[in-house]
Order: sequence, then structure tokens, then C-alpha cells
Amino acid sequence: MSQYDVAIIGSGPGGYVAAIRCAQLGMKTAIIEKYSTLGGTCLNVGCIPSKAMLDSSHHYEDAIKHFEEHGIEVPGEIKVNLEKMIGRKQAVVDQTCAGVKFLMDKNKIDVFEGIGSFKNATHIEIKKGKGKPHTIEAKNTIIATGSKPSTLPFIKIDKERIITSTEALELKEIPKHMIVIGGGVIGLELGQVYKRLGAEVTVVEYMDRIIPTMDAALSKELMKVLKKQKVKFNLSHKVKSVERKGNEVIVKADDKKGREVEFKGDYCLVSVGRRPYTDGLNAEAAGVKIDDRGRVEVNEHLQTSASNIYAIGDVIKGAMLAHKAGEEGTLVAEVLAGQKPHIDYNLIPGVVYTWPEVAAVGKTEEELKEAGIEYKVGQFPMRALGRARASMDLDGFVKILADKATDEILGFHMIGARAADLIAEAVVAMEYRASAEDIARMSHAHPTFAEAVKEAALAATENRALHI
Ligand code: FAD
Ligand code: NAD
Repeated sequence: MSQYDVAIIGSGPGGYVAAIRCAQLGMKTAIIEKYSTLGGTCLNVGCIPSKAMLDSSHHYEDAIKHFEEHGIEVPGEIKVNLEKMIGRKQAVVDQTCAGVKFLMDKNKIDVFEGIGSFKNATHIEIKKGKGKPHTIEAKNTIIATGSKPSTLPFIKIDKERIITSTEALELKEIPKHMIVIGGGVIGLELGQVYKRLGAEVTVVEYMDRIIPTMDAALSKELMKVLKKQKVKFNLSHKVKSVERKGNEVIVKADDKKGREVEFKGDYCLVSVGRRPYTDGLNAEAAGVKIDDRGRVEVNEHLQTSASNIYAIGDVIKGAMLAHKAGEEGTLVAEVLAGQKPHIDYNLIPGVVYTWPEVAAVGKTEEELKEAGIEYKVGQFPMRALGRARASMDLDGFVKILADKATDEILGFHMIGARAADLIAEAVVAMEYRASAEDIARMSHAHPTFAEAVKEAALAATENRALHI
């Protein structure tokens, strides 16, 4: 029987990063993945393919809506070839997954294909199809089994017309009318993809705002911009049934006043969150406790109720984000190597890759109010930047929240072109506990979108933004 210092179950951005870090630290490492490609949700049906579709559809939108104003004339009609677009997306996915396999080989990590299932706390059975199971022994194990789309109890996902993000990345036609249940990250990113490609898109959201966990100013601005792009929104709507009749999908919901509203479309994307995935893991055989929300229970070292078993990523508490999973993978590897790593969960940034992009780190204004912390706000609109006018990306703003007494930055919230990249500066600043004035005094290249970060910091520092 093969023996390992550490076995990792699941090869998503949590699992494969953990494997590399364990190998770097000299551990004999195995990774077990039930699918034939490595990379998990993120690489196969999540971050990478969704961004590939967002980029392709963005090019198309630019071509049909913005080329002309830039003085670019395209003879003939510009058309979408969805099959080719999805083919390109798949090529990007394939290359990226192959890259992870390369990294496993490079780091001498043994890869096992099959479902990993605990026999006990030190033995894992790996089962592939109808073949004979194979058992390995591991001193330590990291559970990185991720998550799957969740749904509402009365919805039957038929994977054809009533779909999750996984099927939405593989459609054979552009929907005429896509009804999106859930105005969170997936609903808005994929909703925008199909809106750009020509679908009518109607979002039905339970809460009174979209992206409800982010700062309310971002929800408001993003909805304003998406409305300009003709996405329709129905907030404070409680969906109560989703039915398919032939090629039609009928969604019924109660609005804020309790009146029944009906939406008819040809596709319904259900994007109401994801659930931690532990099916087939046989966690109880290893003494690993699962909490009442289906998550693997962990302590601050990400150790489960079995002392030699750890868990990371979407399958445990916290934000379901690839970079959070990766940081946790690194942390556990370093804990196993006797180091004392640390993650500041307050400084894990969140990004929505719509255009304009939305990005945030730290506390929201609502959270500061609730905690009774006195703060000041500095905000700067993108439209006041030369760079924004040059590229005609005028929507959005950068907002900084800083401690009223000490000026320490407590939160950064931004919406605009390239916000996904701009947020890195905010993370660095907050990691070093910078004040708004620190950022205000740093030189930012001109002309860039990053100047909005400096200007927002200036606005927070004695209200002295320069260009507004
Ligand atoms: P996963 O990536 O889910 O990987 C778990 C792996 O474990 C899977 O490959 C699974 O097959 C395997 N597995 C499960 N059980 C077993 C078993 N018993 N035996 C063997 N293998 C098993 N996050 C971002 O940060 N940025 C984004 O832009 C982003 N976009 C997204 C877009 C979409 C459409 C979706 C759905 C998600 C997106 N996410 C994004 C979220 C991100 O994909 C997840 O947070 C991330 O993949 C979690 O990583 P993980 O390693 O915990 O789990
Ligand atoms: P989400 O939590 O972002 O959004 C779900 C939305 O559905 C929320 O707005 C919620 O209020 C709403 N909702 C819940 N129940 C509802 C109901 N009954 N009726 C109507 N609306 C309802 O979840 P998601 O968009 O499905 O994404 C799942 C996970 O994947 C997220 O945790 C996210 O972190 C991750 N993800 C991240 C990215 C990114 O980082 N850019 C992209 C896609 C997915």
C-alpha cells in the first residue's frame, strides 16, 4: 500500500495549491480527484470559463456598440458564433487544467483519479468507475472537496432549460429570455454574458438589493449601470415555483406586497448560492464532524474533529472564493510543516467580474455602522479621470472608509473598469495598516484608473480630492 505524509482530496484551487505547498515543504504528497481533469470547480466550470465567456461577450459588445464611436468601421454584419465562443472557452479551460497536471508532475505529487472515501482516519479508498478500489495510507489528510450549485427545494434543475452555472457555460443557443433567480455574483456575471449576446435578462432577487453582501453603494451603482444595459430587476421577490412547459419556463414569485408575479422565458438560471460538497467522502468513518449547514467543521488551524485531518476552501465556513481556498491550502501545508501561518479573513478581497467590475475588501459601511465604529468616507467618481474618458469607461467610483480618529483604512469599495486589479493596492495598504493619508501621499501613474484610489484617499483626508 502506498504511504504518504499528506493526501489531499479534491484538486480545486484549494487542493492543488495545498499539494504544491506540501511538496515544496518536503512532504510526500498525493492528490485525489474524482474527475479526469484537475482544477476543480474554478478551472473547469467556475472562475476560468466564466471569465472566458465574459471576455468574449465583452469583445462582441464593444464591436457592436462602441467600435463606431472609436472610429472603427467593420464592413458587413458582426455576428456571434456561440459554438466557436464556447469552443474557445473550453480550450482555455483545457490548457489551464493541463497546467495544473504539469505542476503536479513538476512537484512530484502523485495524482489519483477516483472518488476518495475515508475507511478510517489514516486510510483512504479511491474508487474509479467499476474498477477495483485502491487504498492509500496518509499520516495527514486535507479535505478540499469544494461545493456544488444549490437550488430551492421546489425547483427541479433539468440541466436543459432550468439550469445552473455549469450548464450556462455550455449552452447551444443564445436564450431569447433568460430568467435569473438570484442577483448575486453568478447571476450577474452570467446574466451579463447572455445580455451582451442578445438575450433579454430578468433578475429575480429575494433581498432588497443585488450583491447583498457587498457595500450598499456598490449594489446601487451596479444596478444602475446594468439597468442602462437593459437588464431587468425584480428585487424583494420570493420565488415560489419554477415550471417547464415544453421550451418555456414559468417562474412565479410573490413581490414585496405579496402579489403574485409571473415571468416567462426560455431559460431559467438558478444562482442562489452553492452548497459544501461532502457526498461520498464517508467523513464519519474518520471521525470528521459536519456542521448543520453541511460544512466540514474546523478550528482556527483548519483542523477538523480528527486531529490529523484538515479541511479548506468551499467545503468549510467562509467566503466561497478560489483565492480564499488557495490561502487556506497554503496555511494547512505550513501548519503541517510546523510553521505558524496566518490568514486575515477581513482582507480577502471579493470581486464581481461584470463590466464595470466590482471589487471590495475590508468592512462595508453597513458593517461599520452596526459595529458602532466611527468612520469617514472618501469617494471619487471614475468619470472625473482622464483615463476613463480616453477609454469611455465612465461608470463607477472608488470609496474608502477610514477610521474617524486614526485615519486607518477600514474598507475599500470600488466599481469601475479594472476594479478587479485595482483592489490589490487596497489589500496591500490594509495589510500594512495604512492610513488614507498614506495612500493620498503616494504617487499614482497618470493617466490610470488607479488615480481614483489616490483621489478617494485624498477625499477621505480632509476632503481634498484634486480633480473634482
Ligand atoms: P472546488 O474547486 O469545488 O474543487 C473541489 C474538487 O474536489 C472538485 O474537483 C471535485 O470533483 C473534487 N472532489 C469532491 N469530492 C471528492 C471526492 N470524494 N474524491 C475526489 N475528489 C472529490 N471564485 C473566485 O475567487 N473568483 C471567481 O471569479 C469565481 N468565479 C466563479 C464562477 C462560477 C460560475 C462558479 C461556479 C464559481 C466561481 N468561483 C469564483 C468560486 C470558486 O470556483 C470556488 O470558490 C473554488 O473553486 C473553491 O475551491 P475548492 O478547492 O474549495 O473546491
Ligand atoms: P451568491 O451568494 O453570490 O448569490 C446568491 C443570490 O441569490 C443572493 O443575492 C441571494 O440573496 C439570492 N437568493 C437566495 N435565495 C433566493 C431565492 N429564494 N429567491 C431569489 N433570490 C435568492 O451565490 P451565487 O451567485 O450562486 O454564487 C455562489 C458562490 O460562488 C458565491 O459564494 C461566490 O462567492 C462564488 N462565485 C464567485 C465569483 C467571483 O468571485 N467573481 C463568481 C461566481 C461565483
